[in-house]
Amino acid sequence: MSRNHTRLDAIIVGAGFAGLYMLHSLRALGFSVRVLEAGSGVGGTWYWNRYPGVRCDVESIDYSYSFDENLQQDWQWTERYATQPEILRYIEHVCERFELGRDIQLDTRVKEARFDEEANSWVLHTDTGERFEATYCIAAVGCLSAVNPPRFPGLDSFEGDTYHTARWPHEGVDFAGRRVAVVGTGSTGVQAIPLIAEQADQLYVFQRSPNFSVPARNRPLDPELQRAIKADYAARRQAAREAAWGVPNDKPPRPLEDFNAQERVAVCDEGWRKGGAPGMLRAFSDSMTNPEANRVVAEYVRSKIRTTVRDPAVAEKLVPTDHPLGAKRLCVDTNYYETFNRPNVTLIDVASTPIEQITPHGIRTRDAELSVDAIVFALGFDAITGALLAIDIRGRNGASLREKWAAGPRTYLGLGVAEFPNLFTITGPGSPSVLGNVIVSIEQHVEWIAACLAYMREHGLDRIEATTAAQDNWVAHVDEVARGTLFVSAKSWFMGANIAGKPRTFMPYAGGVPTYRRICDDVARRGYEGFALSASGSLAHSPV
Ligand code: FAD
Ligand code: NAP
Repeated sequence: MSRNHTRLDAIIVGAGFAGLYMLHSLRALGFSVRVLEAGSGVGGTWYWNRYPGVRCDVESIDYSYSFDENLQQDWQWTERYATQPEILRYIEHVCERFELGRDIQLDTRVKEARFDEEANSWVLHTDTGERFEATYCIAAVGCLSAVNPPRFPGLDSFEGDTYHTARWPHEGVDFAGRRVAVVGTGSTGVQAIPLIAEQADQLYVFQRSPNFSVPARNRPLDPELQRAIKADYAARRQAAREAAWGVPNDKPPRPLEDFNAQERVAVCDEGWRKGGAPGMLRAFSDSMTNPEANRVVAEYVRSKIRTTVRDPAVAEKLVPTDHPLGAKRLCVDTNYYETFNRPNVTLIDVASTPIEQITPHGIRTRDAELSVDAIVFALGFDAITGALLAIDIRGRNGASLREKWAAGPRTYLGLGVAEFPNLFTITGPGSPSVLGNVIVSIEQHVEWIAACLAYMREHGLDRIEATTAAQDNWVAHVDEVARGTLFVSAKSWFMGANIAGKPRTFMPYAGGVPTYRRICDDVARRGYEGFALSASGSLAHSPV
């Protein structure tokens, strides 16, 4: 097939978990498809993020594809939380197993996507100078793939080495004998800091605001346990789909009021002992809606920080007080707080002593200049909308997505956008996406989109567009649900608060994965209610 002159049924942008499964699903339905991927390899998140300590924070048994029984039986995870190399090996295995590679074009960044109304197709232009055309465009660009770059004055003058955790050198970095600064203490910093501290001569941790972190209690995955899970993997996967955040519950959580003071501590103790986010986030069923339930868990974690970190002044700086636990994505760590007891680790509180300048030899804060040989930026991402808006996307009548979303993203179900026909967004804003196990949300979206395209083909239709009314209602609903939770009280990347000038709006759907799935299924069952469907040009079928 010629690379750029054939009109395809669908183009998928991105070859992470989402893009790969989308390709597999559409190919199985007989659609002609191509994936365009900016990276030089597949894997998305797991291709780009190679910093020390990087691993998943949802157990691998659950943080993996469920769509193929043989795949899930054959693949053996070695640890409770797999490392990045293991997850990347898994994704590469999936690619080989389903022969996905032949429809993936690497090293190709989509710069522009325009809907040609007459031709009923999306025309994409890439940084390789190629042009692609397809009836459908499926954005699988990732919620956490557009890097938040460092913008400190003087950065260019620094004579040492700088790294961004999400663009880590493939050959790794040796910090032995070096003085290192890490800027950023989100999930990434929390994973990287303990390992860099073990290598470096001296480590300075620049923290702007402390995050809550809970122990992973990572360990080799017990073969017996893995066998037992695989004996009825389908049941575990179903439990994940039915759990609010895509991770199966050991036992259904109950509200705070069901427990007396002693029992509350016991519930927290149990979560802490087990390790991982769910034990603390779901200690109580109302942890994210009832401030008192959240306070109990947050206080518990604060007390753990204070007892772990020996220097009380350092401990106090590490204790988060500005947001409810879980309102920023809860970090999951191995020896994070313990690391601050090491003699070679210094915590710099950027909130009270802001970074003023990067100098040729280090970092100058308001109070001091610290000499370092290397700076690691763990600054996170322009999340959820960043990668989408990095592409100049134009819909009907030249409508610009950047302009339409200037005050915050507007979608119908996080799947479609009014005025942008035949464009689908996997884990787009307005869907549960990053709140929980993202693979569960990816699979749900991929399966919904594949079924939708099959339905359209079956009914002789080839144009689908969210109606403005359905979109307006959905945006209002997403907002209303968010306002009933504690999520909105944190300055988080969920809210766009980590990027200067980004509109502040809670972007994911906080109603839970099962509720959301039911809504999407109902929409499909009612002939894709809220979408206008038609056959090229003529409105043959418009259910709403
Ligand atoms: P991605 O994996 O981000 O893939 C998107 C791909 O699109 C990228 O390869 C990118 O290069 C490509 N792309 C983007 N724009 C363009 C363009 N214009 N042209 C061409 N290609 C483009 N979630 C969990 O549920 N559990 C976890 O434990 C977990 N751990 C994480 C750890 C890290 C370090 C990070 C950063 C995120 C983690 N996440 C986790 C979230 C993670 O992003 C998702 O779980 C999942 O991997 C997303 O898959 P995706 O395919 O949607 O996006
Ligand atoms: P993040 O949570 O956004 O954290 C970025 C950190 O950089 C924050 O501490 C932030 O401080 C700080 N920062 C940003 N700009 C700064 C500046 N100008 N000066 C000083 N500090 C600055 O990003 P992340 O840690 O990469 O994580 C993003 C998400 O990816 C996670 O929430 C999670 O969903 C996923 N992830 C998961 C894992 C895992 O455990 N599996 C690992 C990594 C990432 P403020 O808090 O003050 O903004």
